[in-house]
Amino acid sequence: MSSVDLSVDRLDRISGFGQAEYADAFVYRPTTVEEIHAVFETARKSGRKVTLRGAGRSYGDANTGAENLVLDITRMNRILSWDAATGIVDCEAGVTIENLWRHCLEDGWWPPVVTGTMYPTLGGLLAMNVHGKNNYCQGTFGEHILDIDVAYSDGKFETLKASDSRFFEVISSAGLLGVITRAKLQMHHVASGNLKVLAEAAHNWDEEFALFEHYENDADYMVSWVECFGRGAKAGRGQFHAAWYPDRVDLQSRKPESQDLPPLLMGFFPKSMMWKVLKWFCNRPGMRFVNWAKWMASSTIGNHKIHEQPLVAFSFLLDYVPDWRRAYEPGGFIQYQSFVPKEHAKRVFAEQVRLQQEYRLESYLGVLKRHRRDKFLLTHAVDGYSLALDFKVTKRNRARLWELAHKINDLVLKAGGRFYFAKDSTLRPEDAATYLGEALTQFKEVKRQVDPEGLLTSDLAERIEIVD
Ligand SMILES: Cc1cc2nc3c(=O)[nH]c(=O)nc-3n(C[C@H](O)[C@H](O)[C@H](O)COP(=O)(O)OP(=O)(O)OC[C@H]3O[C@@H](n4cnc5c(N)ncnc54)[C@H](O)[C@@H]3O)c2cc1C
Repeated sequence: MSSVDLSVDRLDRISGFGQAEYADAFVYRPTTVEEIHAVFETARKSGRKVTLRGAGRSYGDANTGAENLVLDITRMNRILSWDAATGIVDCEAGVTIENLWRHCLEDGWWPPVVTGTMYPTLGGLLAMNVHGKNNYCQGTFGEHILDIDVAYSDGKFETLKASDSRFFEVISSAGLLGVITRAKLQMHHVASGNLKVLAEAAHNWDEEFALFEHYENDADYMVSWVECFGRGAKAGRGQFHAAWYPDRVDLQSRKPESQDLPPLLMGFFPKSMMWKVLKWFCNRPGMRFVNWAKWMASSTIGNHKIHEQPLVAFSFLLDYVPDWRRAYEPGGFIQYQSFVPKEHAKRVFAEQVRLQQEYRLESYLGVLKRHRRDKFLLTHAVDGYSLALDFKVTKRNRARLWELAHKINDLVLKAGGRFYFAKDSTLRPEDAATYLGEALTQFKEVKRQVDPEGLLTSDLAERIEIVD
């Protein structure tokens, strides 16, 4: 088997999206399955390990591997076939959500599950088995996949369908079992390129959860922003959104130019400069003010509003501000997302926010979503809710922030909750072992079969000790 050149020219400094940790690694960008196998051969010969990487949009260390050979699959980005009559699209794993909607929306098809950003690749979406704002009704990304191709570290290659148990093991395995090189996806039919969106202010935790319960059998999407500085009767306040696909056919709104996010804010301010403005506010008093201002706007002029919004604008709100993560420089940030069964969610999330306030480490952005269970091996979802929290990392707060996260982990675990590799930076091996339970034993057994030399790993996998 051929191998590739292991030279220092390949060395690159990479990080997860949060940029709170960096790793130096030998980065390869293959375009064929043969090149992937050659990288494994090089790892074998040089005694190194391999880490898989897509668009690098996982927040923590799931896509980095210090001193490893990193297989970045973003150049395997061809759409192989598209059937506008059935909505079935066959793609290489480096194709992104953006590539998908740009290719298919004009024909009346939209990805069935999308994340809060359009830049992740199919490989990354499947390795994490991502969810969207419609997880409670449409499940995860993997539930809409017809088949995938997987290249294993030992040179084997196979096609997996939903009738194969291995399909449910590889999808959700955080890139630790094999390289997904191709996927066939059933897109979702849409008449319009817009959504009908309702905005409602929630004054406290009770109102937040009541809104989700009210709309869960009706809305196509639900999500709520939670303001983490609110105390006492104001704790849990935020802005809830529900959205529906309109039935009316609207060809103009399906055109890419009707979806493109505008380059200027309020018609004059270049969005590319926005992160510099945000940086001024990226501290505790600044973010307390930003959250308060957002709450004032959401609870007055923005309240009880129904309007039509392009699918892209509703789905990828965070892509509106290019480079927004740079506001967190130099220390970066982490995202912490926990998933709690519905009977405990309100109590656990209220306590999470109370603890943040006690530590004076409030999250600058809180997002609440509704979820359902799925049958993938390393699933993160529960029949309940998740709260995603962004925390700024500095040299001074780092140790206390990790201490806070560990306290929150204990709350989540006691309530039978789960965590998400795509958003993790703080889990300890014992936390992972507790929530994964029997699935971890099964995962290790499958790993021994498909990656017998243990070539595939990541900084996350080593940190939480899910690989031997
Ligand atoms: C702004 C923002 C919003 C987000 N919103 C959401 C959301 O709403 N819901 C949600 O679920 N997630 C969300 N995410 C997380 C993101 O969708 C996931 O982390 C996703 O996995 C990123 O894909 P990627 O291509 O960037 O993969 P990377 O982050 O590069 O890699 C992710 C994992 O996939 C593995 N991997 C990569 N390629 C392959 C391959 N070809 N075969 C096998 N394994 C592979 C890697 O080893 C790694 O473990 C968000 C992230 C950001 C930055």
